[in-house]
Amino acid sequence: MENSKQMRTWLDDLGLNHPLVIAGPCSAETEDQVLKIAHELKDTDVNYFRAGIWKPRTRPGNFEGVGALGLKWLQKVKEETGLKTATEVANRAHVELALEHDIDLLWIGARSTVSPFIVQEIADALQGTDKIVLVKNPVNPDLSLWLGAVERLSTANIKKLGVIHRGFSTYEKSKYRNIPEWQLPIELQTKFPDLPIINDPSHITGNRDMIFDVSQTALDLNFDGLIIETHCDPDNAWSDAAQQVTPKVLIQIMKDLQIRKESNEEAEYKNQLSNLRAQIDIIDGQLIDSLGRRMKISDGIGTLKKQKNVAVLQSNRWNQILGAMILEGESKGLSEEFVLRLFKAIHQESINHQEKIING
Ligand code: PEP
Ligand code: MN
Repeated sequence: MENSKQMRTWLDDLGLNHPLVIAGPCSAETEDQVLKIAHELKDTDVNYFRAGIWKPRTRPGNFEGVGALGLKWLQKVKEETGLKTATEVANRAHVELALEHDIDLLWIGARSTVSPFIVQEIADALQGTDKIVLVKNPVNPDLSLWLGAVERLSTANIKKLGVIHRGFSTYEKSKYRNIPEWQLPIELQTKFPDLPIINDPSHITGNRDMIFDVSQTALDLNFDGLIIETHCDPDNAWSDAAQQVTPKVLIQIMKDLQIRKESNEEAEYKNQLSNLRAQIDIIDGQLIDSLGRRMKISDGIGTLKKQKNVAVLQSNRWNQILGAMILEGESKGLSEEFVLRLFKAIHQESINHQEKIING
């Protein structure tokens, strides 16, 4: 697998000796709030100061951002701290205002990436800009839609492009706010190794206690940077309170993260190894999750069998499953012996669950 980036990008030109870090509040709330956070992030590894000025909220009636006024606060951040600035744009008017206020990095939010019309409008408004433009993944796990947005920007002659992985919406209950579906950004990186990719652990987790682990996984998977929501008083933030960390916590996170640089043969080997291991860990988690869900369904069958007074073991059904899975396994390079042993173990666990229900 090809991991090392071949082409020089805007990211290399920044000349950083660590992953790119974008940090700042979910929303700009007041001038004091914005400046206070920015001053605490000054002279750290943070490169860009983020703040949402126009906030896409799921339900009306929540805080929808301070609007253009906040762009003046971001200009002040740059003057007072030297930090570069970043905000979300969601239509032509936002783009024009952000460019007027010399915002350095613009991103397209997850709810905009799903709409080719709005992405095209933003691309037209940005035509030929030398600002950095990052595209968040769409709300739904659709790689083509994500890439389509990048293509529209690229066609509009925008050169400093990148993507942000912020996870995907799901109906199923999950410990994440937006499930990472790591295989999507991995596929994207494999297809476009030179497109910088930033991880957004804040919107993936929705929970400040999980930010570190998701950030570390992203770095192990060779992500180029992180965007982390940071607020001086997270619990009283006007949006996304549960996921924001204080500047102090952010600085500790940046210190504790293991950063693997591709500098020599030994480092390259370790880097590739940790990348592959991170992928294995993700798949192992998915295996356990799937098995847990399979057993829950099996419990449901147990309840039904109890109601109808039917025996737990139905050998016809079991033989059918085994036959189908041996064939399926063969097509994936798994030996018959392995599939047999695996499914016997799964079946036994399933029987144990059902017997507990029927006799319990
Ligand atoms: C944000 O970054 O504050 C934001 C609204 O993110 P997303 O588009 O990922 O929901
Ligand atoms: Mn947010």
